[in-house]
Formats: sequence, structure tokens, C-alpha cells
Amino acid sequence: MLRPLPDILRIDWPPTAAEPPRTAEDAVARAVEVLRQGGLVAIPTETVYGLAANALDEEAVAGIFRAKGRPASNPLIVHVADIAMARSLAGAWPATADAVATRFWPGPVTVVVPRGPRVPDIVTAGGSTVALRCPDHPLARRLIAEAGMPLAAPSANRSEAVSPTTAHHVLAGLGNRIDLILDGGPCRRGIESTVVDCTVSPPRILRPGPLSRDDLEAAVGGPVEWPAAAAGDSGEPVRSPGRQARHYAPKTPLEMPVEPARRVAQLVAEGRRIGWLTSRTDDPQVRSLAGSRNLMIVPMPESPDEFACRIYAMLHGLDQRGLDRIVVDPPPDTEPWRAVRDRLARAARVPE
Ligand code: AMP
Ligand code: MG
Repeated sequence: MLRPLPDILRIDWPPTAAEPPRTAEDAVARAVEVLRQGGLVAIPTETVYGLAANALDEEAVAGIFRAKGRPASNPLIVHVADIAMARSLAGAWPATADAVATRFWPGPVTVVVPRGPRVPDIVTAGGSTVALRCPDHPLARRLIAEAGMPLAAPSANRSEAVSPTTAHHVLAGLGNRIDLILDGGPCRRGIESTVVDCTVSPPRILRPGPLSRDDLEAAVGGPVEWPAAAAGDSGEPVRSPGRQARHYAPKTPLEMPVEPARRVAQLVAEGRRIGWLTSRTDDPQVRSLAGSRNLMIVPMPESPDEFACRIYAMLHGLDQRGLDRIVVDPPPDTEPWRAVRDRLARAARVPE
């Protein structure tokens, strides 16, 4: 069952401007029209905003790659209304994919399965597998159901930039490159879905995300593996493009030093303009630096879920301020922080 759509706020609109849709229903109807014509619509999901096109229309999907500046070698996740739509796109539907989807969809986990004949080459970057997810957001679900088509939708940002978690981030990053933005409010999860490869046994996590390995193991009733080596550190070909070393990076150089207070003190002494993301605002070391010239301390939540929910918005915000450096405290090296650590480590990589 689809949940009811949220109300949208009425605003006073200048008489000369084009009428905006009056209700969420109208907005969805307009988005369906754009998608049927092969256009691009940014959509809210619970993870990050996606840039959607009809997954079965090669030309439309090519538009996604152009708008993002995304290399053709990087496949897209296809968003579906339910398991039935997922199965219609898969060449086979492994029991592990079924277990994960049954337990967690709609939700922040993507299953990689053998590709079916309906899926165009451009979506899978020519590969023999396809990535599928059913997003947990009322607007996205209603849109897919009413359009009656699967939607290819990578994150709605220029390639390698920080993913958007509000409609404003999409507007700032892709603005006039796309046809429509559906504003569904800030994303609840704030980081990209967990991606699990169900074509291998045991299944393998290709990208850590909001759902943990424990969650997945409980659903499949058996082991789920991590990739052997960290992103970009092994000689193996990049199986999942989300594992490219540099990704999700702000324009301002970002560091995650082992001793952040010492590093911040050093940068402040050099006269740099610093944004420091830290959860330890009561720590004496942090307090002694507070008030330093050119230092902005940004308090971060102590729970990994809340941290994930806020991190991209903070990076987008700090990127507007013309800072020399963003410093982030390294999160604990524990399982619940794995996805956040993964994203920050990529953001901190120096371009190769
Ligand atoms: P994004 O561009 O942020 O939506 O990320 C899409 C991610 O989906 C990629 O980075 C990959 O990790 C993953 N992906 C999509 N299709 C496949 C596939 N066929 N096999 C493995 N990973 C995939
Ligand atoms: Mg992305």
C-alpha cells in the first residue's frame, strides 16, 4: 500500500511567473509527463536525491550521463515500485535477493542480480548484472507506480561531487541541466544505499550504507561478505564504481587527521580558514581552540545514523564559505560507523 502524499505548502507566487503545481498530486502528474517524454526529473528518496529517467529508454538514460558528466563505464541503479517490477528486469532472481528485498523494501538497500533482456546496455554499462532498489519515499513510490516504468536514478549531483540531500542541493549542482525537481524535503537517511551483490555466494557488500552486514545476514540467514580490500587499494578491477577511491568530495579540501585538535591548531596558526566537524564540543582541547580566528566549529551528532543524516548538508554548506580546509574528526572504527567512514575516506582522498 502506498502511503498518502504529504501536503505541500502554498506560497504567494508572482503573477508573471509560471504556475507551480498546486498539490503533490499535480507535481507527480507533471513529473510523469516529463518522464514519458524522455526527460530528467530529480526525485527525493530516503537516502539522497536521485536524478531519474525512464530506465527502458536509452536516449533518456543517456541524458542522465550527460547532465552528471558521468563516465559511461559507471552503471546506474534502477528504482522499482516493488519486487514484481524488480523481477521483470532481472534475468534470474536469486533467493538471497528475494530475502533482502522481502525484508527491507521499500528501503535503503540495492540488490545486484543477473540482468534481464529488457534492460538497455547503457544502464548496466554493458555488464551482465543490474542493480535494483525500491526507495522508501512516498513521492518516489507514487511516481514510479503512476509512471508505470522503472526509473534509472543515480544521485542527483555532478559526477564525483557531494550527493544532494535537499532539493536546493540539486538546484545548486544541476540547475538548468535537468527538467524538473520534485521537492520532498530533506532526506531521512542522508547517505547512499547499501549495495549487495546477490550474484555470488555468499552475497558480497559492494558499498556500505544505512543497512549493516548484520541486518543483511539476518535477512539471508547466512554469511554476507565484505570485499577483500578497501576501495582502490587492491589491484582488482573496479567491480562497483561506487568503490572508486575518490567520490562524494566537496570542492574544499577535506582532511580526517588522526589528531584533529593538533592539526586544527597547526592550520589556525598558519592563518588558514577552517571548518571543523566534531562531535566532541565538550572536550577541553576543542574548547581551547573555540574562538580562534578563522575557525568555525561545527558540532556533529554522536550517533552514526544522525551523523549520516547531516554530513552531506554540512559539506554542501561549508563548501559555500570559501574555506581553505574542512577538518573532520575520524569516526570510531566500529561497524555502525562503517558507511560514514567509507564516505569520509573517499571525500578526503587527494585526486589522483
Ligand atoms: P550512484 O551513482 O550514487 O547512484 O551510485 C550507483 C552505484 O550503484 C554505483 O556506484 C555502484 O556501486 C552501484 N551499481 C550500479 N549498478 C551496478 C552493477 N550492475 N553492479 C555493481 N554495482 C552497481
Ligand atoms: Mg553518486
